[in-house]
Amino acid sequence: MNKKIWLSSPHMSGNELKYIIEAFDTNWVAPIGPNINGFEQDLSKYLNVKSVAALTSGTAAIHLALILLGVKSEDEVIAQSFTFSATVNPIVYLGAKPVFIDSEWDTWNMSPELLEKAINDRISKGKKPKAIIIANLYGMPAKLDEILSISKKYDIPIIEDSAEGLGSTYKGKKLGAFGDFGVLSFNGNKIITTSGGGALVSKNDKHIETARFLATQARDKAPYYQHSHIGYNYRMSNILAGIGRGQMKVIDLRVEQRRANHQFYKDNLEQIPGVSVFTEREGFFSNYWLTTILIDPNKTKGITTEDVRLSLEKENIETRPLWKPMHMQPIFKDYPAYCNGVSEELFKIGLCLPSGSNLTDDDRNRILKALLKVF
Ligand SMILES: *Cc1c(COP(=O)(O)O)cnc(C)c1O
Repeated sequence: MNKKIWLSSPHMSGNELKYIIEAFDTNWVAPIGPNINGFEQDLSKYLNVKSVAALTSGTAAIHLALILLGVKSEDEVIAQSFTFSATVNPIVYLGAKPVFIDSEWDTWNMSPELLEKAINDRISKGKKPKAIIIANLYGMPAKLDEILSISKKYDIPIIEDSAEGLGSTYKGKKLGAFGDFGVLSFNGNKIITTSGGGALVSKNDKHIETARFLATQARDKAPYYQHSHIGYNYRMSNILAGIGRGQMKVIDLRVEQRRANHQFYKDNLEQIPGVSVFTEREGFFSNYWLTTILIDPNKTKGITTEDVRLSLEKENIETRPLWKPMHMQPIFKDYPAYCNGVSEELFKIGLCLPSGSNLTDDDRNRILKALLKVF
């Protein structure tokens, strides 16, 4: 059997072990220590934002952002429907209610038109949404100018889920730095990884200070354990932060490598009638965390996304359909949703291709050969 080619697998730089060994040598084997501070500083410098809190996951970061924005039981929170469930689950952890917004074709992210329509409709029903969670999927920036201006007009804060967008920019500014809160993930499949981890980003350092307090069990300043708030155990480990420091040394290279994969697919697949490679517009710069394609079976003599997925699976090459929209998920189907058909169509005809920064020339050629064989 051929070696398995994954969609996106961890890619170490060789710098990580140094920081881990340092943590062992100094006995900072704890959710506190110099690697956490160092990793937070690296991220804050890279994104050019004031404050970053390193956490156990991106999901934890979204949870804390919602808490810091005062979201409570029965509140409504607007969220992009076309995303991973982790964007939305923390809304429900708080007993609040998600309101889903569909995507638009240019970025596949939240449609600004539907967002404004939904806000007006929710207000007319007597409930102003407490927050808006947007996502920058597959590394592609959302239409941030339009969305931020709606956020300002209605005075509803933005949580920017950039779990997939570290290294991307919009009009020259790094993703993660746009919202009232930015969210990053360092899960094993992301552009850089700490094996598992995340971060909360904000221009407001008071918010990040509070996030660190809540993430470490909300201990009041006292010699004994006293609590005036509900706490969480969400702080990143100093060992894992060491991996993060090593990974941050190569973040720019990782973006280049993912973008080279995208260029390879674009150069080789666009000759196939009915196949289009999703590509950034002017002003948008994607890290191309994953390269994604759409397959129009009307132009491929009937070959569908599922045919391609199954054929590549037989050759031990992993591909995956695009995110199944949240408003189509059994667990979320009864929440309000403002839809235009875009995310349902994307889910139907879209496919993620292997996109790891560690793909070799041989891997890429094997994938291409397998794709050309299907068509
Ligand atoms: C990975 C991911 C998350 C969750 O991050 P974790 O660190 O795995 O909790 C959230 N949103 C999106 C869009 C993601 O891709």
